Amino acid sequence: MTIATELPASDPSSTTSIPGAPPAEAPITMLNPDFPFSYDHYLAHPEGLGSVPPELYGTEVAVVGAGLSGLVTAYELMKLGLRPVMYEADQIGGRLRTANFPSAPGVVADLGGMRFPVSGKAFYHYVDLLGLQTQDFPNPLAPVTSSTVIELAGEKHYANTTADLPPFFREVADAWKAAVNDGAQFAGMQQAIRARDTARIKELWNELLPRLDEQTFYGFIAGSESFKEAGFAHREAFGQVGFGTGGWDTDFPNSILEILRVVYTDADDQHRLIAGG
Ligand SMILES: Cc1cc2nc3c(=O)[nH]c(=O)nc-3n(C[C@H](O)[C@H](O)[C@H](O)COP(=O)(O)OP(=O)(O)OC[C@H]3O[C@@H](n4cnc5c(N)ncnc54)[C@H](O)[C@@H]3O)c2cc1C
Repeated sequence: MTIATELPASDPSSTTSIPGAPPAEAPITMLNPDFPFSYDHYLAHPEGLGSVPPELYGTEVAVVGAGLSGLVTAYELMKLGLRPVMYEADQIGGRLRTANFPSAPGVVADLGGMRFPVSGKAFYHYVDLLGLQTQDFPNPLAPVTSSTVIELAGEKHYANTTADLPPFFREVADAWKAAVNDGAQFAGMQQAIRARDTARIKELWNELLPRLDEQTFYGFIAGSESFKEAGFAHREAFGQVGFGTGGWDTDFPNSILEILRVVYTDADDQHRLIAGG
């Protein structure tokens, strides 16, 4: 079993060392700047999520939708002594369903979510409650991935680690790291998330919001000093090859704030899968 509180911490080298920083082993969690609530701490609280007066025990509560959110809600309502009644228009599981194929025993296909970042502590709280087994997800260049092939401009590059790739790819990665640090306080935000310092998270986010609210992902990249210096080929390769799970150029028209919410919380990193789907 993967115990939520014992999941491996995010790669400490992904942040710059800063005086006064929290211990490197303090994990990155889903303290998304918009909702910086420590759900994992609430869930671990000995008194539970709350209480209702005894005279209300057994009261029926409608829960609409039996996806992950509805199922978790119903479970927690039951723990409070209430009586959830679930309404599901289609099938239990929602966008987390898995399909089996009678003609291919043992083969499963996740129809929705298939990889879950270890920073999602509340998610793994329920994974552990259910006794589900998890494994590293074979993302590109992840240690568990036997080989990654990157095809760029008609040329194939086979790699087990980033060190196997030509220096060009390291330059692209460095340009991205510099862009988010220089333009979006990446290291500072991750430091605040590790420290669960919500006041600092809000302070950083409030400074970024007016500046980046109208900015696209591509505009952010193109306007960064690091990518200007690196040149167009690096920017283009970043879009095609990307980071974490792969290329990001389909997200280029989206707000950079959406991307920051993902990368600050390591939501695109250190994924695990549920064994058996
Ligand atoms: C292709 C795909 C890939 C994804 N990959 C990932 C991933 O790798 N990692 C990850 O973390 N997330 C991933 N996601 C997102 C993740 O699957 C969802 O965020 C999550 O499953 C949403 O759960 P939910 O309970 O909020 O909503 P849903 O799972 O959508 O559940 C809502 C339920 O409500 C029901 N419903 C809707 N309206 C009504 C109504 N009026 N009456 C009754 N029932 C109703 C629906 O039928 C459905 O079952 C992916 C999603 C998709 C589609």
